[in-house]
Amino acid sequence: MKIHEYQAKQLLAQYGVAVPRNAGIAKTPAEARAAVEALGGSGVIKAQVHSGGRGKAGGIKVAKSPEEAEKISGEILGMLLKTHQVPDGLIVETVLVEEPIEIVKEYYLGIVPDRDSQRDVLIVSAKGGMDIEAVAEEDPDAIARLPVDPIEGLRDYALRQVCYDAKLDASVVNKAVVFLRQLYNAYVASDGCLAEINPLAVTADGRVLAADAKFQIDDSALFRHPEFAEYAEENEDDEIEARAHKQDIAYVRLGGDIGIICNGAGLTMTTMDEVKRAGGNPADFLDVGGGAQADRVRECLSIVLSDTNVKGVLINIFGGITRCDEVAKGVISASEQLTITVPIVVRLAGTRAEEGAAILAQSSLIPAGTMQEAAAKIVTLVNGAA
Ligand code: GDP
Ligand code: MN
Repeated sequence: MKIHEYQAKQLLAQYGVAVPRNAGIAKTPAEARAAVEALGGSGVIKAQVHSGGRGKAGGIKVAKSPEEAEKISGEILGMLLKTHQVPDGLIVETVLVEEPIEIVKEYYLGIVPDRDSQRDVLIVSAKGGMDIEAVAEEDPDAIARLPVDPIEGLRDYALRQVCYDAKLDASVVNKAVVFLRQLYNAYVASDGCLAEINPLAVTADGRVLAADAKFQIDDSALFRHPEFAEYAEENEDDEIEARAHKQDIAYVRLGGDIGIICNGAGLTMTTMDEVKRAGGNPADFLDVGGGAQADRVRECLSIVLSDTNVKGVLINIFGGITRCDEVAKGVISASEQLTITVPIVVRLAGTRAEEGAAILAQSSLIPAGTMQEAAAKIVTLVNGAA
């Protein structure tokens, strides 16, 4: 899960990381104006979207007065910020308002898990302020790495060495070592899977600050971090996905017009392939999970149908632990409770498939014997109806 720069800075500050003074976030130009006033009359307005490269894309601007802050934030708030990382763009809903700093030098500090060494690896470079991927391509020698032994932790001499290897100015090495420790502590304690300070800025008045921060939290560890629940909710930008995830239903919206409901990720993906092969476009990936009961199936159908693009639904269940008669009951009870105006093709195989088929025979649902037949039927029904 990605969190915003302002959230990452709040998090890192709890571990001692020095960040620029800020006046909080703003969601309206008036709030940005007030924030700049609070900072003493000037401030940097920074678009809070889940992407790097905001500066180049026009999402970071300095305001020299509260009036200018109002004008600039009016331009940034609501804009579609197209970065090299997210070319389709992201709508800016929030800006961070910070003290403007005069940067004289920029460095890069980061931590990511590394598959090769099977460790978290610290990454340091004197080429800060730009994309580390670009540095890695153009000037790989400018990047130094330090895999961290999780038992041994961070040793001072190793931290100093990686800073020297990265050709950081000698005068900043001792401070960079402190930042690396703080960043690592935050990363470990928060179950991070990416932490970045880019740039670590040396200012004209001699301070060293995290001018930008990026942080990602391992989704699989979110259950043990109630403190991030708020971020998780905010992170969901698709309403239907948010609704599904609240109930632990694995649902991904895909943009097509054929709703898919299956059990097991493998069967779901195979079913999507079959729909594609038959000339259709899946609207979603939905895995109802094992042992689904009737009410869960009903909720899944309701979720899939709440996508207004959906012109037909394919339900493909292989009953192992999941009982086909339970699935059939769920589909019938859903079709009684929801106003269903689109065709639904159902293929059931495995445990209690016959009982399931008998239940379905009394409904308007369209049965299919195989997955291929089911895919062909729903595609014909949807494309014919278009
Ligand atoms: P990113 O483009 O999304 O990575 O956002 P950053 O926060 O890293 O900002 C990009 C660049 O803008 C930085 O590398 C700095 O050079 C510059 N920048 C950001 N904040 C300030 C600031 O307060 N003052 C000045 N002078 N430059 C800034
Ligand atoms: Mn940056």
